[in-house]
Amino acid sequence: MLDLTFESPAPKVIQGAKDDWELVIGLEVHAQVASTAKLFSGASTQFGAEPNSNVAFVDAGMPGMLPVINEGCVALAVKTGLGLNAEIHLNSAFDRKNYFYPDQPSGYQISQLYHPIVGEGEVIVDMAPGIARRVRIERIHLEQDAGKSIHDMDPQASFVDLNRSGVALMEIVSRPDIRGPEEAAAYVLKLRQIMRYLGTCNGDMQNGNLRADVNVSVCKPGDYERFVETGDFGVLGTRCEIKNMNSTRFIQQAIEVEARRQIAIIEDGGEVVQETRLFDPDKGETRSMRSKEEAHDYRYFPDPDLLPLEIEQAWVDDIKATLPELPDAKKARFVLDYGMTEYDAGVLTADVENAAFFEEVAATSGDGKTSANWVINELFGRLKKDGDRDIADSPMSAAQLGGIVALIKAGDISGKIAKDLFEIVYTEGGDPAVLVEERGMKQVTDTGAIEAAVDDVIAANPAQVEKAKQNPKLAGWFVGQVMKATGGKANPAAVNQIVATKLGL
Ligand code: ADP
Ligand code: MG
Repeated sequence: MLDLTFESPAPKVIQGAKDDWELVIGLEVHAQVASTAKLFSGASTQFGAEPNSNVAFVDAGMPGMLPVINEGCVALAVKTGLGLNAEIHLNSAFDRKNYFYPDQPSGYQISQLYHPIVGEGEVIVDMAPGIARRVRIERIHLEQDAGKSIHDMDPQASFVDLNRSGVALMEIVSRPDIRGPEEAAAYVLKLRQIMRYLGTCNGDMQNGNLRADVNVSVCKPGDYERFVETGDFGVLGTRCEIKNMNSTRFIQQAIEVEARRQIAIIEDGGEVVQETRLFDPDKGETRSMRSKEEAHDYRYFPDPDLLPLEIEQAWVDDIKATLPELPDAKKARFVLDYGMTEYDAGVLTADVENAAFFEEVAATSGDGKTSANWVINELFGRLKKDGDRDIADSPMSAAQLGGIVALIKAGDISGKIAKDLFEIVYTEGGDPAVLVEERGMKQVTDTGAIEAAVDDVIAANPAQVEKAKQNPKLAGWFVGQVMKATGGKANPAAVNQIVATKLGL
């Protein structure tokens, strides 16, 4: 694999009233495991189901019910860890995190505090070609989601929907390596991209598949470097945690306003209090939700209902053998194999379906670079105009687009005619090669026919001919006229050459 080398981006600097400040950000991302059954029960995880229709007794916290670990969820967590180049722990264990909410009837959440299933890994977050941030992953643990309280259906009563209760989540905890709002958004999107490639999390943020708790602090330039050197969190500022963000746009806004809030407090001589905050997108501000709780507040202890989770290296190796080519590797290969820019490779590999579509176009046409242009500029552009469709929903198949590019490559059609043909195939369907024959769209490479057209134009425009003889740049005007006369079908290179000869240039 070609290793695309990169430099780190500069950290975001915010100017306060008195000083310059830098941001330090660490994210806890909750990713719903792409499993059709819950973590400790066989109940369905289907989104949008009738409230309380997907609830096993254990999900409702009924007395005497025992959790049973779902092996499939464990496998997907391991696969995610492997996809993030992380250490897999063969021995992990589940703990009870005790707190009561009506949407969690057992009175505790089963999580992994002391022995998570996945340890240290990393994510490369691309910011621009050649510029990327290496964000270290501290750990990934498995835990169960809570249900949902509903307060707006009745003036007197609250309702609870336990469909989500017990759904498997992976909590992916980053090191505080993220240095700006754009990086935080790009980090979430990169995690999402990797997990979608892996098939371990669907990443639908609107459906709550992916939520992030965003930890933000501010420090003076130079402090972060000292932190990296010494590992001493004391040199960093006090952090606040903004809970439950499910939009990358809001994540960026929240970080920015939270950082400014902290800077104003410090510059005023105050102190930032470590706490959990909520972002209000309407008001564009964060507000305090509760003071920061510590592990001891939750009375964590090993869950006595579950055995320690022991997995075997051979099983991990089997999962490793199923890993697909991941975004970074695919992007590097596209640059190397198809000679495209890193930027184009990034666009084409953003989605695994887009990448597969492109590769089929390239295989059909035999020309990767031109295929990349047509997929990105023409097809993606057309799909966007057409109600922002996905590639899966494209009326034009990869074989059809590949056919068009093959005709360009063979010199059968000009670039201009190719655009007309593209529109016909997109709206009406059909085999591009057959359409070109049927509709007489073939490029005229027959020099006799082109010569005749050039002669006509020259004969009809004697004054222009005189001018062109003085100023050879005017030959372009003749080329344009010939192209017009031939309905864009004349081979431009041949026209250029014949015009020049006939004008004696
Ligand atoms: P908790 O579970 O109590 O929230 P963790 O130690 O798991 O605490 O850290 C939570 C997140 O906060 C991690 O992503 C970590 O990188 C981040 N973090 C820690 N210190 C800071 C800081 N000074 N500024 C910003 N983020 C931080
Ligand atoms: Mg936390």
